Amino acid sequence: MSDTKHTKTILLLGVGHTHAHIVRNWKHNPIPDTRLVCISNFPTTVYSGMLPGVLAGQFPLQAAQIDLQRLCDWAGAQLILGHITHRSGRNLVLADGTKVAFDVLSVGIGSIPATEGIEIAPPACLSIKPMQDFTQRLNDRLDRLRFQNRSEPIRISIIGGGMAGCEIALCLQARLSQTAREIPFELTLVHDAEEILQTESSGFRHRVRKELEQRQVRLATGHRVREISIGALHLENDRTIGNNLAILASGAAAPSLLCQLELPQDERGFLLTEESLQSTSEEPIFAVGDSGSIQKKSVPKAGVYAVRQGPLLWDNLQRLLKEDSLKKFSPQENFLKLMNFGNGSAAGVWHGISFQGAWALHLKNWIDRSFVNKYQQ
Ligand SMILES: Cc1cc2nc3c(=O)[nH]c(=O)nc-3n(C[C@H](O)[C@H](O)[C@H](O)COP(=O)(O)OP(=O)(O)OC[C@H]3O[C@@H](n4cnc5c(N)ncnc54)[C@H](O)[C@@H]3O)c2cc1C
Repeated sequence: MSDTKHTKTILLLGVGHTHAHIVRNWKHNPIPDTRLVCISNFPTTVYSGMLPGVLAGQFPLQAAQIDLQRLCDWAGAQLILGHITHRSGRNLVLADGTKVAFDVLSVGIGSIPATEGIEIAPPACLSIKPMQDFTQRLNDRLDRLRFQNRSEPIRISIIGGGMAGCEIALCLQARLSQTAREIPFELTLVHDAEEILQTESSGFRHRVRKELEQRQVRLATGHRVREISIGALHLENDRTIGNNLAILASGAAAPSLLCQLELPQDERGFLLTEESLQSTSEEPIFAVGDSGSIQKKSVPKAGVYAVRQGPLLWDNLQRLLKEDSLKKFSPQENFLKLMNFGNGSAAGVWHGISFQGAWALHLKNWIDRSFVNKYQQ
């Protein structure tokens, strides 16, 4: 695929929290003699902060989605929907063999839930990724389980006691409790560390734990899941938990495509970058959001950082094309965290101080909607 009108091509692989910013900027400040091409495996991207609210039935999936064709058409960028198999020099290769050439590439395909060391029977398990069809896949599974298990409660385990896992557990509880009389259910949150949310402040952790307990979400902490089989979860301490469906919301792991790009990776498989977000290979390639790891720095895999990288990437793409020196990303140490409880309230933490209430959910919804609205053209 080539274009004679433009001399340079910036190629974005994946359009998520970071790359959406580049596409939006393209509308107002396109770089002369350059075209912007995006490759995505889905026609939409989902703003993860709103997915739990969708799960709780607070708003439709469309409210959390960005239509990439509309965004790209509006911005004057090209969108290619497809699956990349590998890189060949300055080309990405699509599954049908088509090559997409680039002068500068940025990789932002996010992450997937970590499953290392877990033996999985696929029918017993549901991954939170891709987020685009998560609610559809969940609904299909629940319908099937309701049909099969008419006399028994449906047992669902959420694996991962971090922010995403706890929020999903609470929002799913809110949704399932609406039909609990006809369709009983049991929810268990499984986490390998002794404490859920172990990196958060004790006040915030206490609020979330109390909410989980009050809402009858069982906690199974302190042991890793060894196997997810049909009917049961097997933990490392030989404990077994009855399970019809396990939802994987475990920590971030690298998508397998990253290792097909022939770029330096960290020990977890994410693409190693300099502080400028440029690959340590020194090729004109960036890796952003969850897909990149800045060498010798520990930046959590969180949407907040992915979003903050957008303006720096925009600047550095232009600097690289002009052969200027690149700017460095300096991640902030603290940021506001808000968790939707699914029942009309939320909890949050800011500089170690925790809080909760309906107003916290209003604040969260306002922040989330303001973000998504910018990209819903
Ligand atoms: C349920 C949930 C709630 C979360 N809530 C928060 C929160 O409140 N705050 C926070 O800071 N973080 C949160 N996170 C983490 C946050 O979602 C990620 O850190 C963030 O999405 C990373 O952004 P990204 O741009 O790297 O990737 P993403 O936003 O995930 O975008 C990646 C894009 O690439 C596409 N893609 C994937 N594979 C390919 C491929 N092979 N080819 C082409 N395209 C591909 C995907 O479809 C997607 O559109 C949450 C995560 C989950 C799962």
